[in-house]
Amino acid sequence: MQRGMLRAGITLGLGLTLLAGLDTSPTVHAMEALEAEEGMEFGYDAPDVTPDQWNTLAPLCGNGKEQSPVDLSQSKLTPRQERVRLRDQRNLKFSYHETPLEIFNNGHTVEVEYEPGSTLRLEKFGSVFDVRQFHFHSPSEHSFEHGALFDVEIHIVHNRQDDPSQLAVVALLVKEGQENVALKPVFDHLDAVMNKGDHFVGTEEVNIADLLPKDQRYFGYMGSLTTPPCTEKVKWHVLRIPIELSREQINQLIAVFDNSCCPIHGNNRPTQSINARALVLDKNTFSDSNDKEDDD
Ligand SMILES: [Zn+2]
Repeated sequence: MQRGMLRAGITLGLGLTLLAGLDTSPTVHAMEALEAEEGMEFGYDAPDVTPDQWNTLAPLCGNGKEQSPVDLSQSKLTPRQERVRLRDQRNLKFSYHETPLEIFNNGHTVEVEYEPGSTLRLEKFGSVFDVRQFHFHSPSEHSFEHGALFDVEIHIVHNRQDDPSQLAVVALLVKEGQENVALKPVFDHLDAVMNKGDHFVGTEEVNIADLLPKDQRYFGYMGSLTTPPCTEKVKWHVLRIPIELSREQINQLIAVFDNSCCPIHGNNRPTQSINARALVLDKNTFSDSNDKEDDD
């Protein structure tokens, strides 16, 4: 949180490399073209193109109406949203497995690649999404009451199986606490990806199933990539219960970002207006117990 206070509050995104394997992706090619043509790259600190100027790279970053991240404040809920909450059923069906360790510094974040075979089923949409990668932001991108940020936010990025242009993200908020053993293989090798373009392949495995909190209530909303080209129609699921990293692990991440992308503000985009969107809460998001379930 310290870091969050120091850093004005900015984000990053779903990492453009998330789609690197999909040659059909228009967004990736658009971005590559942008950077190639103008010789400028988006970033968080000058001389890179800072978040308030990303619209010069991709107009949607400036004029989009459903952008991410957003502030997730209970006080912003309207009565209509409250009804949504009460009707909503537990929606996330995780089927995550281990994957061989592969870490990449793309110049905006550190990304851990995921081999095929791990999925997320969204019951509400009746659709299955494949895990592609997960990556880190520090401080967090989503904020809470009064704009409070967490130390770190992890984005698990998925493509829909039958239409890979559709994206879903599960966001894990992170607070300082115990060492995160599930992520130890990643942190053991962060020093190998200190610079943009660094790529590390290890012999260990990592399993994001071991990262998830037991309590999987979440804030859901339709948003965007949090980096240019700020593509919209991304299904966001921000789990309400934070997980933990040790102070040492948090500092390791910050050291990578300080070295490779964003020493001043960190790699978090500032929160964006919620506009006309509903902030959908999983059933019992704000209750203390999962035991009592309201039926429709
Ligand atoms: Zn992200």
